[in-house]
Amino acid sequence: MSKMTNRIKSAQYVSGLESIFKCPICDSPMSVYELQSLVCANNHTYDFSKQGYINMLSHPIKTKYGNDLFEARRKLIAEGHFFEPLSSAIAQVIKEQKNPAFILDTGCGEGSHLSHICDTVSADLEKPVHGIGIDISKEGILAAAKNYTDKVWLVADLAKMPFKEEQFDIILNILSPSNYAEFNRLLNDDGLIIKVVPQSDYLKELREIVYDKPEKQAYSNADTVDLFKENFQVVNTSRIRYTKSLDNPLIHALVRMTPLTWAASEEKLKGFLDRESADITVDLEILIGRKTI
Ligand SMILES: [Zn+2]
Repeated sequence: MSKMTNRIKSAQYVSGLESIFKCPICDSPMSVYELQSLVCANNHTYDFSKQGYINMLSHPIKTKYGNDLFEARRKLIAEGHFFEPLSSAIAQVIKEQKNPAFILDTGCGEGSHLSHICDTVSADLEKPVHGIGIDISKEGILAAAKNYTDKVWLVADLAKMPFKEEQFDIILNILSPSNYAEFNRLLNDDGLIIKVVPQSDYLKELREIVYDKPEKQAYSNADTVDLFKENFQVVNTSRIRYTKSLDNPLIHALVRMTPLTWAASEEKLKGFLDRESADITVDLEILIGRKTI
């Protein structure tokens, strides 16, 4: 029964926002049909799932990111508050915008960042903001829809997002691949793109365990930052660096959600996984840009 409610709640919510959508196949406008599907003028039909998300991929894409990774990520973010200083900083930037009504998170995974950021902004501004999360991973979006009901969750391709031009006031892209042509198409003229990339000390304690060679332990984001600057008019860049103390269950969650540990042998990780606590460095750069008009 509660699953049924999720689907209907989500379909009702999307009904109020249907004008932002366009069909990923034929580009025509879309509307919600009988609280069951999002349908275009040419009858291309995408059903709301029981959990409330919509799968808008034309064919399924296998990713190597499974349920386990997204559950670990949710635990670390929602219970461990691992990225709390980051999401507060982003919420602060968004609150200073004139009218941040539509926030798109590209590569939202299991949705914790988007959910926390939208809820903070909405509470502080005392008005609703609409959060739309998109990810190519069905497992991620499924977890998002289960945990956070008052948002729009879509399985879709970042290279062809199912929205009309200039619909978004904020586009988030947090530790996730980009598609700058699409970001430029979807951002409105006053809108902001907020991209978060790792900085040199990000998770350095983990990298020191996984890699034997010091040159692999270091990390540079210079190319990513340069590419951002080529595509957007940079408004601000800032670095956010802090240390979080994790208990044993959160250490396990961190290892499960971090791709760099997947290639590491069990022996290497064992000592770390057995620890009662660990101090982990989070070191990120927040890039804020406007579209170049
Ligand atoms: Zn269509």
